[in-house]
Amino acid sequence: MDMTRRDTAKLALAAGAATLFAPNVARAANPKLIVIGGGPGGATVAKYAARDSKGALDVTLVEQNPMHTTCFFSNVYLGDAFAFDDLSHSYDNLVNAHGVNMVYARAEKVETGRVTLSDGSTLDADAIVVAPGIDFKFDLYDGYDEHIAATRIPHAYKAGPQTQLLKKQVKAMEDGGTVIICPPPNPYRCPPGPYERASMIAKILKAEKPASKILILDSKDKHSKQGLFQEGWEKHYPGMIEWVPAEFTGGGIASVDAKGMSVTTIEGETFEGNVINMIPAQKAGMIATASGLTGEGDWAPIRPDTFESTLVPGVHILGDACAQGDMPKSGYSANSQAKVVANAVRASLTGSRAFPPRFRNTCWSLVADDWGIKVGADYVAGDDKVTKTEGFLSPADAEAELRAATAAEGYDWYAAIAQDTWGA
Ligand SMILES: Cc1cc2nc3c(=O)[nH]c(=O)nc-3n(C[C@H](O)[C@H](O)[C@H](O)COP(=O)(O)OP(=O)(O)OC[C@H]3O[C@@H](n4cnc5c(N)ncnc54)[C@H](O)[C@@H]3O)c2cc1C
Repeated sequence: MDMTRRDTAKLALAAGAATLFAPNVARAANPKLIVIGGGPGGATVAKYAARDSKGALDVTLVEQNPMHTTCFFSNVYLGDAFAFDDLSHSYDNLVNAHGVNMVYARAEKVETGRVTLSDGSTLDADAIVVAPGIDFKFDLYDGYDEHIAATRIPHAYKAGPQTQLLKKQVKAMEDGGTVIICPPPNPYRCPPGPYERASMIAKILKAEKPASKILILDSKDKHSKQGLFQEGWEKHYPGMIEWVPAEFTGGGIASVDAKGMSVTTIEGETFEGNVINMIPAQKAGMIATASGLTGEGDWAPIRPDTFESTLVPGVHILGDACAQGDMPKSGYSANSQAKVVANAVRASLTGSRAFPPRFRNTCWSLVADDWGIKVGADYVAGDDKVTKTEGFLSPADAEAELRAATAAEGYDWYAAIAQDTWGA
């Protein structure tokens, strides 16, 4: 079934949308862009495409949730240094300040020129952008599934109720207990994320139950900002965090026993924990696989200059879900890619000028209060992938002043990206 704009409005009303576009006859003939997913990737595309086209594009954002809760700074929330409510952002500014049409619904499938929603209705488009984030490969682990993650052994790698559950479990643990963290294999969202998480949980344990331990059972033999994390752990949490690389786990976790609260490594060793944070291997969000955007792989291949799918013409895919090359899967990367995609789509639909694509990423991590570290780089669109040009990393053995300044930069970055993505 084809949907008119009025049908779309009805659908959004039925889904309980807080704010809606008014049917606008004058703009009805404008080219239509549909964006799926209102995270830092999709919301930024929708905002920039609507804002910069000054009404020449009809932009609709399809998002399954009424608010977006950011994964970035969810570890800082675990460390009692950020409020949970401050992680959530509504889409009201995109509607009211930039004229984006919101459809609160789950998209099931995209094909060239058409989006199918979960109720079977369809939306037609001149261009489609997909930014669905990640899904998890639960089938790789015996004894682990969505239900166990939601109730007993959270991954907390999509921010929301599981993040709150993990924090509750850490807070409720007896002094002398063990928290096990199982980081996923590459590639996954936020390479420093599990290690920042260990730091923030250690911060709580040090203050509230100092005889406790954190055991990191890794799938990898090295990880992001490894030297800087280890230096910070020795300084702030000596003897509290033990990191076990893939050499000893055999490459990660094979099975999870939710009743016995234990995990067994591929090597065959079983570890019991009072709290277990099992972060599974990852793949592109469901709609990418359902729509043939990932081909036979886990991630969606794209053209590095426009992020158009190499498999489905007229569909662009960005953020965590795509296989673009050298950029890490981060909120900063998704927001940076989004501006390139918004520009490319606007140019192709309205004939506006296309600027040469440039990308940037920085990932700040908090190791303790006033102790921040960062890694970052610039990128260009190479012939077959997004390619790193220059990078930087916080220096080792730096003065406390520099670490404090880096921590403060991280907080400033959060405010800036939230404003840039979901702000007026
Ligand atoms: C613990 C942790 C800490 C992190 N810290 C940082 C950090 O400090 N800095 C940083 O830059 N990055 C950080 N990240 C990574 C960052 O959160 C992700 O890389 C980023 O959110 C990816 O953005 P995205 O838009 O691709 O996907 P997402 O943020 O996952 O957004 C996807 C959106 O699409 C919606 N959606 C999905 N499928 C559908 C569908 N079928 N129909 C409708 N809507 C759909 C979802 O509801 C969601 O709103 C962290 C991640 C974690 C887990």
